[in-house]
Amino acid sequence: MPGKHSEEELEAEAADDEPREDLGGLTTQELRQGQEAALALEDMMALSAQTLVRAEVDELYQGVRPLGQGRFGRVLLVTHRQKGTPMALKQLPKASTTLRGFLYEFCVGLSLGVHSAIVATYGIGIESADSYSFLTEPVLHGDLIAFIQPKVGLPQPAAQRCAAQLASALEHIHAQGLVYRDLKPENVLVCDPACQRVKLTDFGHTRPRGTLLRLAGPPIPYTAPELCGPPPLPEGLPIQPALDAWALGVLLFCLLTGYFPWDQPLQDADPFYGDFVAWLASGQPQDRPQPWFGLTPTADALLWGLLDPHPRKRCPVSSVRHYLGQPWRQQEGTGAEGDEGDQVDGE
Ligand code: ADP
Ligand code: MG
Repeated sequence: MPGKHSEEELEAEAADDEPREDLGGLTTQELRQGQEAALALEDMMALSAQTLVRAEVDELYQGVRPLGQGRFGRVLLVTHRQKGTPMALKQLPKASTTLRGFLYEFCVGLSLGVHSAIVATYGIGIESADSYSFLTEPVLHGDLIAFIQPKVGLPQPAAQRCAAQLASALEHIHAQGLVYRDLKPENVLVCDPACQRVKLTDFGHTRPRGTLLRLAGPPIPYTAPELCGPPPLPEGLPIQPALDAWALGVLLFCLLTGYFPWDQPLQDADPFYGDFVAWLASGQPQDRPQPWFGLTPTADALLWGLLDPHPRKRCPVSSVRHYLGQPWRQQEGTGAEGDEGDQVDGE
């Protein structure tokens, strides 16, 4: 009967919430959420494969100018030849992208629907002789990297607005059973010259919660520490939204300082990370590492939560909301201009 549960059912529900060692620390509920997201994506990919437009891009769209180039694709501002509508076209060469990889990225974008801080994906996928392409909403003020002043960051109001919007975008992604996995300034597009509004793009690395992954290549500052150690299952780490919370913490630190807090979250190999972990353990003001001098106790509390080395204790991205409207950076001249760490645009 709806609303009534037998004792056994209640026990089963309670067990659903318990992290399970045989699932690499995932709960049954979390695994189910990821599996549902994966099935929904498979359906959408099968449908999208059937409705791909087979044409060369310039038969349908007029190129206006390049908008950006990533590791996998180039993005062009185009207009529709008949209607003149401006759009961003992401083109992925067949030489480096499989049909499945293309459909995956395209369909994740579609499945995220309309969110004010996520670039809208239009339902048009194109297969050309040498490439696959899809169309998205164009965002015309470049990406966040150009707005982060080295050793300074963003003005505090802009940093807080970005934080609030990115946290909301990630929350939306997590609510769909997905983990974004690629948060960095290059994937955050800016809508206006004052950086009042931003939108997250690039869903090529997004995966359903619980997908097993191993770190491919050396860690970067945004890589969460649980991905750096030996995985809990031989096949890899079952991914969780906590990976994005970590990356958000690193990104917010960059927005507030203009440099990275560390190069890699490896205690033995990276002294900046080692000092941070020691400070977390002691909680003593005298242990505050030099790169953190410019921040306020409010920013410390926010970042300590997002950058907890233990994924199960890490605060969710939504925790940002509790810290908005309070000062995150010390007044100018009180240590904001640190000179440690790599600059954000130094990569
Ligand atoms: P990759 O998967 O290769 O990293 P991205 O989707 O991140 O590709 O796009 C590469 C760059 O193109 C971005 O960093 C950004 O500067 C620009 N870009 C991507 N999408 C848009 C868009 N919708 N509007 C404007 N610029 C964009
Ligand atoms: Mg990118």
